[in-house]
Amino acid sequence: MDRFKNFAHGKCECCKKQLVWDNRDFGDKGAWHAHHVVPRKVKTDDSILNMAILCINDPNCHLNQGHGGNYQDAQPRWMWDCN
Ligand SMILES: [Zn+2]
Repeated sequence: MDRFKNFAHGKCECCKKQLVWDNRDFGDKGAWHAHHVVPRKVKTDDSILNMAILCINDPNCHLNQGHGGNYQDAQPRWMWDCN
């Protein structure tokens, strides 16, 4: 995915942790998820500008920032609390 390599440079866009390309959506180390900033249930936008590369281990930026901590709706990027 272009966003992973060219935009995020292989790092979580929140905490900047180094991620592992092969560990998309699973894995122990460097696992990540291609997050939709505007959720697909609101609008189907798979463009590179609507995507964010977020880690899913510890810290779990996808859960903490993308989905409000309790699987709530995704938050806009400016509301993210990144360390
Ligand atoms: Zn992260």
